[in-house]
Amino acid sequence: MPLQISDRVRALGAQAQDALSEQFARIDAIAEYNTQKVLSAFQTHKVAESMFQGTTGYGYDDLGRETLGAIYADLFGAEDAMVRINFVNGTHAISSALYGVLRPGDVLVSAIGAPYDTLQGVIGITGDGNGSLKEFGITYRQVDLTPENTPDLPGIAQAVQDPAVKAVLIQRSRGYATRASLSVARIGEICQVIRSHNPHVYILVDNCYGEFVETTEPTQVGADLIMGSLIKNPGGGLAPMGGYVAGRRDLVECAATRMTVPGIGRECGASLGNNRALYQGLFLAPHTVAQATKTAVFAAKVMELLGYRTDPMSQEIRHDIIQMIHLETPEAVERFCHGIQSGAPVDSYVTPVPWDMPGYDCPVIMAAGAFIQGASIELSADAPMRPPYTVYLQGGLTYESGKLGILLAADALLRK
Ligand SMILES: *Cc1c(COP(=O)(O)O)cnc(C)c1O
Repeated sequence: MPLQISDRVRALGAQAQDALSEQFARIDAIAEYNTQKVLSAFQTHKVAESMFQGTTGYGYDDLGRETLGAIYADLFGAEDAMVRINFVNGTHAISSALYGVLRPGDVLVSAIGAPYDTLQGVIGITGDGNGSLKEFGITYRQVDLTPENTPDLPGIAQAVQDPAVKAVLIQRSRGYATRASLSVARIGEICQVIRSHNPHVYILVDNCYGEFVETTEPTQVGADLIMGSLIKNPGGGLAPMGGYVAGRRDLVECAATRMTVPGIGRECGASLGNNRALYQGLFLAPHTVAQATKTAVFAAKVMELLGYRTDPMSQEIRHDIIQMIHLETPEAVERFCHGIQSGAPVDSYVTPVPWDMPGYDCPVIMAAGAFIQGASIELSADAPMRPPYTVYLQGGLTYESGKLGILLAADALLRK
C-alpha cells in the first residue's frame, strides 16, 4: 500500500531531488571521508567482539568503554575523550564540563549570544537558580551577535581580556536561534581571536548537531573541549542514550569528576549492555548524518518550490543537520507537523498538538515518532507557536524515509 501522497507532491519531490545532485554529491563525499576516518580508528584500536561485553555494578575496567573513548579522541583529533551512557543527555555532558572547569569567582563568557535553552537554567540565566553555576558564584557574561546576526569578533576579543574569565562557550549549531550555524573553520577563527587575547582561557564548544557534518571537528581548530549528545549525530541512531566530552586530558578529567564524583571520576560508570550499540552507532554515524543532511536539503528545496523561505537555503553548504522553514501561519505549522508525524515509523497515528512545555514562553508543537525517545537524529520537527511561525526540522535515519516524511508534510500543507 503506497503512502497517501498526491501526484502533484510526488512530482514536486522528483523535481527537487533532480536539482540537488551537486549538493548530494558533496554530502556523500563527506560521509565517505568520515567513514574512512571511523573505520581506520576502529582498526587502529583493534576493536573486537570482547569489547561489546560491557560491565555492571561499579563498572571498573570496562575495556569496550575505554577503547571507545580512545576512538572518539582519535576521530576528533583530541588528546582524550570520555563517551558514556551515564550522561543522561547532551545538557548533562555540557554541564559536567562547565561545572568541572569553573570555580567560584570565575567568569564564563558565551561568545555567540545566548546559549541553548536548557543551558540557560544551568548557568542561572533562567529558572529558579537552584544549583546553577550562578548560585556557586560563577559570573556569566554574554557577547551578543552583531546586528547582522554574526559573531562579534571585536566584542569577543574585548570580553576575554578580563583575567577572571576562565572559560568561553561557543555553540556550533544554531539550536533554536535564528543565527547561522558556525562552520568549523569559523570556530577556528573565533578560537584564534580568543587565544590571542587570553592564552589561558578554556575554549569549550557545544558540538551538538554538528558531528560529522564536516570533515573536521572543533578540537582540530583550537577548542580545548567539545561536548555532545549520543542521541544526535555520533550515536548514529543506535545509541540508546549518553553523551561525550573530548579534548584536553586535564579538562576531560575535570568533567569526569562532575559526571560522577571527585576521587572516582571516570573509573566508574557501568556500560551495561550498550557498548555494541555505541560502537555500531559510531560506525554508522557518518552515513546517518549524511542521510539527515540530505533530508534537510531536500526539505529546503521542496519548500522553496512551494514558495516558502528556508534557512539555510537548499544550495547552501551545511554546518549542522537543522533546517528552518518559515511557514508564516500557525495553521501551516500544525499541518506540516501532522504530515511529519504521519510519516514516522513509530507513533504515526498520533496527532501532535501544541503544549506548554517547561522552559518555553509559548506553546510548542513537536512531531516525532522515533525508536529512541526524543532522538533528533531521527526525523523530527518542532516549532514554538509564535510569529514568525518557523518550524525546525532535523534528522532522518535514511534519506528515503526522510524524503517520504517531507512529502507527507508538503501534502498535508497543500491539502487545505
Ligand atoms: C540538543 C542540544 C543540546 C543538549 O540537549 P539535550 O536535549 O540535553 O540533549 C545542547 N545544545 C545544542 C545546540 C543542542 O542542539
